[in-house]
Amino acid sequence: MTSVSPRVIALDGPSGSGKSTVARGLAIRLGWRYVDTGATYRAATLAVLRAGTDLDDDDKIAATVAAALIGLSTDPAAPAALLDGEDVSLLIRGPEVTAAVSAVSAVPAVRARLVELQRELAGPDGSVLEGRDIGTAVMPDAPVKVFLDAAVSVRASRRAGDADAGVASHSEGLVDRVTADLARRDRLDSSRTASPLLAAPDAVHVDSSALDAAAVIEHVLALARAAGIVS
Ligand code: C5P
Repeated sequence: MTSVSPRVIALDGPSGSGKSTVARGLAIRLGWRYVDTGATYRAATLAVLRAGTDLDDDDKIAATVAAALIGLSTDPAAPAALLDGEDVSLLIRGPEVTAAVSAVSAVPAVRARLVELQRELAGPDGSVLEGRDIGTAVMPDAPVKVFLDAAVSVRASRRAGDADAGVASHSEGLVDRVTADLARRDRLDSSRTASPLLAAPDAVHVDSSALDAAAVIEHVLALARAAGIVS
């Protein structure tokens, strides 16, 4: 191996682009750690909501998050989010957290604390990180950076599928709600000052609109082989 950088794959992109499935699948294939950075922002948001902290008060949000004990299981076969020792993996996917997470994740002091945690979770070597700013801020030296995107209609349909598993055709209301929520979060995440959702200049863009997760995984593995971090 010629590279001296740690073996890291950085996967960024908006909600519903397929990041989580691809990142977990890659980490399982490679036997590497899986770091879902969105889950750290979601756990921080749950702490803020539980504390009743005013979502317009950045200082109080930062203080609440600083006092919270946030952790992740980085096993891609059993990912989990912990808040003060409690498994909050399901709670952080609820509508209250989803509605508030963009406000909490826009606070620079929150980002500084969680980026430090995310780097610790990634460990010294062999990790797949997924998020919005991995290639630009968390792991700017990652040897493989991918920006995964898909048409908004495809992303909304995937997210509606997550929320409505087992129902053959999504109700119109659900898809409309999910589309509106995605558009709102895309706008907030892309327009914030601190580490907005942005492709790194050296990221490879992959559009997953017409690709399944297995195809994207193979594509990223080929990039990792070309970068010399996977044999
Ligand atoms: O990936 P997920 O949808 O769970 O992320 C939830 C939210 O966390 C995003 O909408 C964004 O506000 C925030 N986030 C972030 N930076 C990351 C990952 C997630 O700001 N690296």
